[in-house]
Amino acid sequence: MSVTIHPAERLKKLPPYLFAEIDRLKREARAQGKDIIDLGVGDPDLPTPAFIIEELYRAAKDPANHRYGLDAGMPVFREEIASWFEQRSGVTLDPQKEILPLIGSKEGIAHLPLAVVNPGDVVLVADPCYPPYKSGTWFAGGEVSLMPLEEENGFLPDFEEIDASALKEAKLMFLNYPNNPTAAVAPIDFYERTVEFARRHDLIVASDAAYSEMTYDGYKAPSFLEAGGAREVGIEFHSLSKTFNMTGWRVGFALGNAEIIGLLAKIKSNIDSGIFQAIQYAGIKALRDGRESLRNHIAIYQERRDILVEGLQKLGWKVTRPKATFYVFAGVPSGYTSAELVAKLLKDAGIVTAPGNGFGPNGEGYIRFALTVSKERLSEAVQRIKQLK
Ligand SMILES: *Cc1c(COP(=O)(O)O)cnc(C)c1O
Repeated sequence: MSVTIHPAERLKKLPPYLFAEIDRLKREARAQGKDIIDLGVGDPDLPTPAFIIEELYRAAKDPANHRYGLDAGMPVFREEIASWFEQRSGVTLDPQKEILPLIGSKEGIAHLPLAVVNPGDVVLVADPCYPPYKSGTWFAGGEVSLMPLEEENGFLPDFEEIDASALKEAKLMFLNYPNNPTAAVAPIDFYERTVEFARRHDLIVASDAAYSEMTYDGYKAPSFLEAGGAREVGIEFHSLSKTFNMTGWRVGFALGNAEIIGLLAKIKSNIDSGIFQAIQYAGIKALRDGRESLRNHIAIYQERRDILVEGLQKLGWKVTRPKATFYVFAGVPSGYTSAELVAKLLKDAGIVTAPGNGFGPNGEGYIRFALTVSKERLSEAVQRIKQLK
């Protein structure tokens, strides 16, 4: 006889997985023999550069790397992260205290609330947003308060609009620029205002910079930590996933305020036992020698972006050319909801996209395209959309 299994309350709080319904429709369409163009999930189609794989191979052969990695990462990896960050942002960090390698940035993002949020505390999260900010908050017993992102504000939150009673209980704010799903970017003065706001309301800021290197037309995304005083109020998450096509490798890092980094490290040391050291060596190599391959990838995404954006604009869609990320966040033509348009694109054009409201109610009215197929396939997608009735 089997036992009765009751899911924990915290699991009952989770909304259905964003891509579950899309995955189902996609499988159905594939089973019918349809040719699917998948612009749904934000996962690079390009391979990890060979020099990074070579380094993994070399390091994987060394038995010294077969044992538990240090919880806080190898000192050489932390030092490489410090030097990479100093070069890209001009901010000098202490590799011992202000840098923490992660098993992918999602891991650190989801665990951060366990380190700084108590039951009943409020966490300020953008709407729409990357889902782990919410689930991490709920798992820690915290309450999510949504900050709507509006296109007319450049998809930046309006701090003045935050509910006063939520703000009183707020302990933590998640920000994410360059942004998923809107592809918006944040200027440095927004980060300066954020530091001031955080100080005024005694809030920790967690900036998710997973797309910081994926920028176009010469644009360079500032880091939150470049704002004066940022290191006193928060940390930033970085990831090798999108920058070097390493989503499956699971490696990222947090940097910034030493106290917050220390608390997150404490949570992690009770949950995981570090990153496979061969992957840390591969990460060192990527950060040290990855600039050229990154430039090549950016050129590829930029060309894809232009094909999709110009194609959609010619068809009368409301869409702007993003400065960063590999997403195009398009306004839904009138007559459809986000979900209806996503379903129609899949059913009648064989194109998979993500509905904006899957990232939060305020994403309604938009759909997200990921630029994760070749330019030929993107042209084909535009042709198919053109033929839609
Ligand atoms: C892809 C993505 C990440 C990266 O996650 P990893 O765990 O480092 O692979 C983080 N934040 C956002 C907003 C993302 O879209």
